[in-house]
Amino acid sequence: MNSIGRYFSNFFKALKSLLIGMKTTLKIFFRKKTTECYPENRKKDLYISPLYRGRLEMIHTADNHHHCVACGICQMNCPNGSIHVESEMVTDAEGKKTKVLKAYTYDLGRCMFCELCVRTCPHHAIQFTNQFENAVFTRSKLILTLNHPGSSLLPKAAAPKPAAPTVSATAASAAPAAASAPKAADTTPAAAPTAASASPATAKAPESEATLPLNSESTNK
Ligand code: SF4
Ligand code: SF4
Repeated sequence: MNSIGRYFSNFFKALKSLLIGMKTTLKIFFRKKTTECYPENRKKDLYISPLYRGRLEMIHTADNHHHCVACGICQMNCPNGSIHVESEMVTDAEGKKTKVLKAYTYDLGRCMFCELCVRTCPHHAIQFTNQFENAVFTRSKLILTLNHPGSSLLPKAAAPKPAAPTVSATAASAAPAAASAPKAADTTPAAAPTAASASPATAKAPESEATLPLNSESTNK
């Protein structure tokens, strides 16, 4: 091809590229706007996707019961060491010793919102909320105790049956087996299942739990 032929070939290629770009620009220009006028609209029509991972919370019923058995699986699977499960042994009326949750500490400042903790919890005791306004002036205020004061494990008879696990391929491949060791020896479960075996079906609580009235307040340390 001579030089004049190359010139026109390049010219039309550039023109085609320009027109494709203009077409995309015009299409987006006339599309419904998705920009949020935040914070002006925060009390009116601010939309935050329910799937947005804002912060972790422990699910509590109206009777101040939770589902956490203090097994420590979430703590073991947290790659950032953002979770610390403190437990204690108590003896019930029948003389049976049981491990109960004492304090569930979550460091929002270290969390990378991977949701592995939620996915690996066999009791659907925790979930992510889309609460995104988490800014504070002191880092220590990002360390939260997720179990409410005076809360206790939901009695077995009242506990809803968890949904059958149907782990998605993505979730299963993303879950590392025991990515980090637990901080305290007393929180280590005797025979903790691996992340893959413990992975529940969905990131959210089962429907039966989702219908329970939640109290999402967490206490700052
Ligand atoms: S995995 Fe679930 S039940 Fe076990 S300690 Fe974590 S929140 Fe509690
Ligand atoms: S979302 Fe990930 S980083 Fe955050 S607490 Fe859960 S496992 Fe840890």
